[in-house]
Amino acid sequence: MTAERPQVAAAACTDASAARTIVIVGAGQAGGWAARTLRAEGFTGRVVLVGDEPHPPHERPPLSKAVLSGTAPPESTHLLKPEAFAALGLDWRPGAQVLRIDRAARQVVLADGAVVPYEKLILCTGGRARRLTLPGADRVPLHTLRTIGDAAALAPVLAPGRSIVVVGGGWIGLEVAATARQRGADAVVVETQGRLCERTVPAEISDHLLALHRAQGVRVLLGAGVNGFATGGDGRPVVQLADGSALACDAIVLGIGLVPNDELARAAGLACDGGVLVDAQCHSSDPDILAAGDVAVAANPWAGRRLRLESWQNAQEQGIAAARSALGRAVDYQPLPWFWSDQYGMNLQIYGMPGAAHRVVRRGDPASGSFVLFYLAGDVVQAAIGPNAARDLRFARRLIEQHKPVDAERLADPGTPLSRL
Ligand SMILES: Cc1cc2nc3c(=O)[nH]c(=O)nc-3n(C[C@H](O)[C@H](O)[C@H](O)COP(=O)(O)OP(=O)(O)OC[C@H]3O[C@@H](n4cnc5c(N)ncnc54)[C@H](O)[C@@H]3O)c2cc1C
Repeated sequence: MTAERPQVAAAACTDASAARTIVIVGAGQAGGWAARTLRAEGFTGRVVLVGDEPHPPHERPPLSKAVLSGTAPPESTHLLKPEAFAALGLDWRPGAQVLRIDRAARQVVLADGAVVPYEKLILCTGGRARRLTLPGADRVPLHTLRTIGDAAALAPVLAPGRSIVVVGGGWIGLEVAATARQRGADAVVVETQGRLCERTVPAEISDHLLALHRAQGVRVLLGAGVNGFATGGDGRPVVQLADGSALACDAIVLGIGLVPNDELARAAGLACDGGVLVDAQCHSSDPDILAAGDVAVAANPWAGRRLRLESWQNAQEQGIAAARSALGRAVDYQPLPWFWSDQYGMNLQIYGMPGAAHRVVRRGDPASGSFVLFYLAGDVVQAAIGPNAARDLRFARRLIEQHKPVDAERLADPGTPLSRL
């Protein structure tokens, strides 16, 4: 008798979970990881993964790099191969859009009229590329780069003898410019701010990026406003600048940031502030609805404020955390932000959030193309950033996470291995 009891309990538990349904909205990177994790954690209930793109969950970083340059096929970005859906028992709904969340009835309503009930709902709706509403914006083709389709549309223009104007000197804009140059196309980057990637990196890194792009033949215009768009006499698109000059080209690419897809959440009455507000367990203001990835806003102890992380690392790790949290596992997701960018073979990485109040310690010579800037509060490293310094940055990450005081002189000395600190 006593030996049977645990078996009965286990069977009852399995039956109960089989009746459960977890719906994931958005089949991008975060959604893909959430679905995969539910199964990895032993969830045997129904998992419905609704994505409005026709593709399986995939990673986007290669879309501005290897896929755009034609050195990798779009399929190489897929997180889950088609056969994995059956193997994992996922109810994947490609090309399906969730129109509405009915919190009272605990169900989502799809554009095709289907209604899917949920016990837990995970929002992984990401974001979309920001557009411009300047004069002429509706009369010339304006490329953006967010999806596989976007990369496919832009790739043919990146060829010798062709030219692009990139509006926006942030990460996407710079990666597109780099890929264009590597493919032999001309590229102009128009940035309204006084330096590149101003929102995310310190001035020394902006200068490094500027020098790199100029050395590769990119014309970079800083502090340059865009007034509108037009079609030239030869039918080519034209970017009209605030100083009265005009740039004719074969394609205009907007790289001006992301708009979080939080409309579903807002319409459902969830607390939002530039994205869906979540806690360290990925719960929104409704405990049965979680959010992860580019759409989620959370307090981040490393930044000392709430933020929305737009990064590969966060999409994966928060997708995993949300799935575990939906299953009632202990979760405390407070990541040290990590971001990287690849341009012309240069790999730049950032750990943490470099701040104006930090003391900066430089290790290595910028002229060599490989160096690290450490950001310290007192003697403790809070953030680090650097090009072509992956090994040092791995150690930097440990220093940041360990909160250990360091000797700034030794930190600055490339002869002292960081492992000794
Ligand atoms: C070109 C590019 C290059 C990048 N490079 C880097 C890099 O080098 N390093 C780095 O760290 N990060 C990089 N990133 C950022 C990283 O890729 C993103 O942070 C990550 O893809 C976010 O994943 P996500 O799942 O949150 O959102 P997404 O990948 O955007 O997925 C969200 C999905 O939800 C769908 N969806 C939205 N609303 C609905 C709805 N109502 N119903 C159904 N489906 C819906 C969307 O269509 C989309 O498919 C890059 C991003 C881009 C676009």
